[in-house]
Amino acid sequence: MQISASVKLETTPAAIEKTLGKPVQAAKTESARAIPADQLSLQRATGPVPESPARLNHPLQNSSPAVERRLQRYYGSADPAKIQAQARKMLGIEGVLLPAPHQRQANFLEFASRHFPPRPSKEDPFELPQHGPQPGMPVYALWQTYAQTDYGALMIEKVLKEAGEKPFVVRATTEGPPQGWHDFILVPENFPRNANQFRYGGQAIDPLAILHHEFEHTRFGRFEQSEAQMLQEEVHAVREVENPVRSLNGFEPRYTYTQLDPEGQPLQTVNILKPEVIHPGAWRFDPEDPGLMLPADNK
Ligand SMILES: [Zn+2]
Repeated sequence: MQISASVKLETTPAAIEKTLGKPVQAAKTESARAIPADQLSLQRATGPVPESPARLNHPLQNSSPAVERRLQRYYGSADPAKIQAQARKMLGIEGVLLPAPHQRQANFLEFASRHFPPRPSKEDPFELPQHGPQPGMPVYALWQTYAQTDYGALMIEKVLKEAGEKPFVVRATTEGPPQGWHDFILVPENFPRNANQFRYGGQAIDPLAILHHEFEHTRFGRFEQSEAQMLQEEVHAVREVENPVRSLNGFEPRYTYTQLDPEGQPLQTVNILKPEVIHPGAWRFDPEDPGLMLPADNK
């Protein structure tokens, strides 16, 4: 059943460009690469961080009337079953052949052996680490969990099936934001232990949704990557990739996206419900109406 969504989900880049108007130029410095730095806004966890990477197919948290109102506003429905059914459609995991459960772990091991560079016996302390996630790192456990999900298993199968084997690497960085672009994904080795909420948006992070979001920026995603349309791509990744995964895992949708400069300072924020309006600096959503914005308190 289709949800009459307030977020009417246009999937083509052209449609998104139309919604957003002129392409937004990302700020650059000469040293910065214009790649999405989604979670530069992650902050160190202050409270306890759950041991398990994320909840799987958890019922959506809609116990409070305020949350229910926000879900109604965002999805046009507060019914978890409807929201999750729509999410599965948006993620392309409905009506397709999914890898069998026992195949998923085997696929993960092949994916890791092909795309996680091994740690060299000697690493140059002055170079950034180039190795992939290693067993024992929180991020390795997160990738393993991701590979067990329907959307993750399908994505990993897509990577393994790619002909030609052009290099695509997954690295475990010491720190910094999760990032993805054409042929790489970088995630800190302590993720998700090192972060549990977005600094400016203030919302809880769903680590599995972050991995899927980063995949959307790679050549395995559905959006045509363009550095000139970074904000449009981010809105697309949050709305059509991250939020559906969040709803399957029991999280409220992410209502805002704050774009940061290479130093991690907030440049501009968009509301996912009204992406055509660009708010300079950092903003968060109004808890009473997620379509409205309030200035962020964080410095
Ligand atoms: Zn992104």
